[in-house]
Amino acid sequence: MVASPSPHNQAIAGRHRVAVIGGGSAGISVAARLRRAGVTDITLVEPSDTHWYQPLWTLVGGGQASLRSTRRSEASVIPDGVRWIRRHALAVDPDARTVTLSGGDELAYEHLVMAPGLQLDWDAVPGLAKAVGHDRVSSNYAPEYAPRTWDLIKRMRSGTAVFTHPATPLKCGGAPQKIAYLAADYWRKQKVLDRIRIILVLPDPTLFKVPEWARTLEQVTARYGIEVRLRSEMTAVDGDRREVVLTDHANGTEETVHYDLLHAVPPQSAPDWVKDSPLADPANPLGFVAADKHTLQHPQYPNVFALGDVANLPTSKTGAAVRKQAPVVAANLLDAMKGKTPTRRYDGYTSCPLVTARDRMLLAEFDYDLKPSPTFPLINTFKERRDMWVFKRYVLPPVYWHGMLTGRL
Ligand SMILES: Cc1cc2nc3c(=O)[nH]c(=O)nc-3n(C[C@H](O)[C@H](O)[C@H](O)COP(=O)(O)OP(=O)(O)OC[C@H]3O[C@@H](n4cnc5c(N)ncnc54)[C@H](O)[C@@H]3O)c2cc1C
Repeated sequence: MVASPSPHNQAIAGRHRVAVIGGGSAGISVAARLRRAGVTDITLVEPSDTHWYQPLWTLVGGGQASLRSTRRSEASVIPDGVRWIRRHALAVDPDARTVTLSGGDELAYEHLVMAPGLQLDWDAVPGLAKAVGHDRVSSNYAPEYAPRTWDLIKRMRSGTAVFTHPATPLKCGGAPQKIAYLAADYWRKQKVLDRIRIILVLPDPTLFKVPEWARTLEQVTARYGIEVRLRSEMTAVDGDRREVVLTDHANGTEETVHYDLLHAVPPQSAPDWVKDSPLADPANPLGFVAADKHTLQHPQYPNVFALGDVANLPTSKTGAAVRKQAPVVAANLLDAMKGKTPTRRYDGYTSCPLVTARDRMLLAEFDYDLKPSPTFPLINTFKERRDMWVFKRYVLPPVYWHGMLTGRL
């Protein structure tokens, strides 16, 4: 049965046993697990009628998947028996245990799961909001632009292509560089790579946090002749002049570069209403929600749990991390509902499928200690592999739709 949004006030009235804010990867996974465990009074607040499988947006931008294949109706992924309120959460008062919704109503809850994802701050880089989607500027970070990335890559035969990575935490830390490799491999196959200058701009001192994979990525960038700017970021864009300002934080210099293609990844932060709420971690300038890094429970409000991109956890924000966080939140929430101390622990597992060519991938999986935690221990995932690319393209999407979102995997 497909869910439909609950009609107005009658669905909002009363105090709800569990309220889940956000029906993306994290919110749906937790709701499905709670339903499987027999919880009956679950209310989901989600404004969108579309659910996106964002990990494929990289391949949309690289011309290897259609945007349509990344989209399903929100109604089709909401578990049976979960009440859907199709509104925005606008504020949360964890002392009163209420969430203010668009339209002005207040939703009262006993337990709260915070999963509204993060916010793309296009305005944080002068000129970017105006330029993206025009002027040869694209971004795989929004579905309206990802197909445009492929149009630009396909048409390019010479010139300068710039790929940027913001200095804030972001969803899928590998995505800003994966698209550079997909583009470079395409240009290599088209025999135009030697006519294209590729600049990859990264804020960190290395290509990847875990040295084992950083070493392989150094070989990948060298193979394509990519100019890597470490400790650097994009600080302004002028779409009319097709110029981007790159700031090198290591030596405090700025350079204005003319581009023919700019793949821009915007700075990211918690949604503004979350930043302004008492749930935001006061130690985090970007306003992500405070959560114990193992139990995912809020340190001040034990009836609140956070997971996914909105949670302030010292690991990379990915759907793969959500897959491991959801069972922990569901189990610990069930304990909290019974008045017990949560005991399930999340170890920081995250995974970055680093696509390095149009048919090759490195599967980087690691935990809070940056210790590799391979799902397939017998396979050498420190080298680029075709089977891993097939895994990302053809195996992971059905695993997501039929396993993760239904609370089975
Ligand atoms: C280009 C790209 C490539 C990626 N590649 C990978 C990859 O290869 N592997 C991987 O594991 N991950 C990847 N990711 C990251 C992954 O998609 C996210 O980490 C994951 O979707 C996080 O889940 P979430 O539920 O926290 O957020 P989301 O899935 O973004 O869901 C948030 C939900 O909250 C809703 N919402 C927003 N505001 C409100 C509000 N005010 N009230 C109520 N609801 C609200 C939204 O509509 C949305 O449905 C990629 C992401 C991008 C953009």
